[in-house]
Amino acid sequence: MIQLHQVSFSYGELSVLEKVSFRVERGEFVFLVGPSGSGKTTLQRLLYADLDPVEGDMSVVGQQLAMLDKVSLPYFRQKIGLVFQDFKFLENKTVRENLALPQRLIGTPTQLIKENADKLLNQMGLYHHHNALPSEISGNERRRLAIARAIINNPLLLLADAPTEGLDLRLSLEVMALLDALNFQGMTIFISTSDRTLAEKCNKRIIELRDGGIH
Ligand code: ADP
Ligand code: MG
Repeated sequence: MIQLHQVSFSYGELSVLEKVSFRVERGEFVFLVGPSGSGKTTLQRLLYADLDPVEGDMSVVGQQLAMLDKVSLPYFRQKIGLVFQDFKFLENKTVRENLALPQRLIGTPTQLIKENADKLLNQMGLYHHHNALPSEISGNERRRLAIARAIINNPLLLLADAPTEGLDLRLSLEVMALLDALNFQGMTIFISTSDRTLAEKCNKRIIELRDGGIH
């Protein structure tokens, strides 16, 4: 599902990743842990081809990233769900509209869009907020909305960057239980977090990013 071979990345002079190699198999649930500034967000951006590596080979959901072009990029992205550290909601659109847009982008029939959105809002305990703006719901609800938006099109792979940031332990574990349920249904999950204690509580595979390398 994810394969990195000797991948390096730098922002100008600042080297962030040096010859990083690892694999994640289909159906796995993996935590990428590392302190703030260790390169977790950078690695996530490389995985969905938002950044290009300086050197090395990457393959994600069966796609060699070096072979991606303008035509294949949207098809590649459709197979991946993204939970951003900073949400990236449409802040002037309602909660339900935020779940409608990604469906429109892939051509979901109009009559199904609302039905799918409402079903997922129910599952996430957000239905009562369907007409609210993202800024009008709590931090925990925003995290859940971000996850709902990421999974609304049933991706093969979920990349979640710091999905529990700002949540206390109880709410963090709730988010993890939600992701665990998705993993149980077959979705491959790759989460980055600076919270090693939380990752250890979940009894999943942990890979550690430190000093530009995987440990
Ligand atoms: P993390 O997500 O683990 O906190 P990041 O991937 O955001 O780490 O950042 C890794 C390093 O790269 C940090 O030193 C950060 O300051 C730097 N960095 C992140 N984004 C950029 C950018 N767009 N331009 C230049 N430097 C960046
Ligand atoms: Mg980050």
